[in-house]
Amino acid sequence: MPLYVVATPIGNLQDLTARAREVLASCDGVVAEDTRYTGQLLKHLGIEKKPFHALPAYDEARRAEAILDRLGQGASLALVTDAGTPAVSDPGALLVRRAVEQGVPVVPVPGPSAAIAAVSVSGFTEPRFHFAGFLPRKAGARSAMLDELRALRAQLVFYESPHRLAATLRDLRSTLGDRPAVVARELTKVHEELSRGTLSQLAGRFSGEVRGEVVVVVSGAPEAEQAGEDPADLEREVRERLSRGERPKDIAEALSGSHAKREVYQLALKLKER
Ligand code: SAM
Repeated sequence: MPLYVVATPIGNLQDLTARAREVLASCDGVVAEDTRYTGQLLKHLGIEKKPFHALPAYDEARRAEAILDRLGQGASLALVTDAGTPAVSDPGALLVRRAVEQGVPVVPVPGPSAAIAAVSVSGFTEPRFHFAGFLPRKAGARSAMLDELRALRAQLVFYESPHRLAATLRDLRSTLGDRPAVVARELTKVHEELSRGTLSQLAGRFSGEVRGEVVVVVSGAPEAEQAGEDPADLEREVRERLSRGERPKDIAEALSGSHAKREVYQLALKLKER
């Protein structure tokens, strides 16, 4: 019997699909990131109590065993997380993989996801987007990931907690350049807000206390960043500025609209030493 992977609302309960309701009502049991939270949702939907299995992110591997046993016995289970689509920056991916390995049919029941909702209103016209999820917290891993993303000709989608938003916008700005971006806050909720501007404008706007949940969408790499740019052009520009007496730090700042600050800074230091 299948494992249904069911999306639930990210704020507005009306966004639960009719099919999700039907699957939640008819399955033999519910696998939930947080059973109390999902219990409230089922109550709100008027769905009778069901056997619950907890699948918290910190214990997914261990908890998956009992769930796989139930599936193996023929139970149909619906996997849900607190909000949005399971396995998208949420538990579920490991359980799905194990279910597939065990020959259990896995059935998507699609619906809300904050990333897709944010991309749909970003207004950026790149046909591709890259879902980056939460950036690593450690500085080294964070800048390595941002370096990887810098040349992508695709909208970049990040999840972030409200109290780290300003610092992340500053990091994005210094690694990716001062690109246009959107902060999508409290999507589908009463205080929904779409804030548009360059990364530095947004970092200024969100420098105080921020409440609620946020997604950041950053426009893709500008023309000069894309593959095919002649690196000699950048080198020439940096040399000229050095010869005018500009400091590497200022050159990096001046060119940060189209190039990664760190890359320009290191190039300027190297050229200056020669
Ligand atoms: N699985 C979920 C999904 O499909 O969107 C994401 C879960 S992840 C643990 C939670 C993050 O999603 C939040 O920190 C925030 O970045 C984003 N998020 C969730 N709901 C949101 C909302 N209503 N408005 C803006 N961002 C939201």
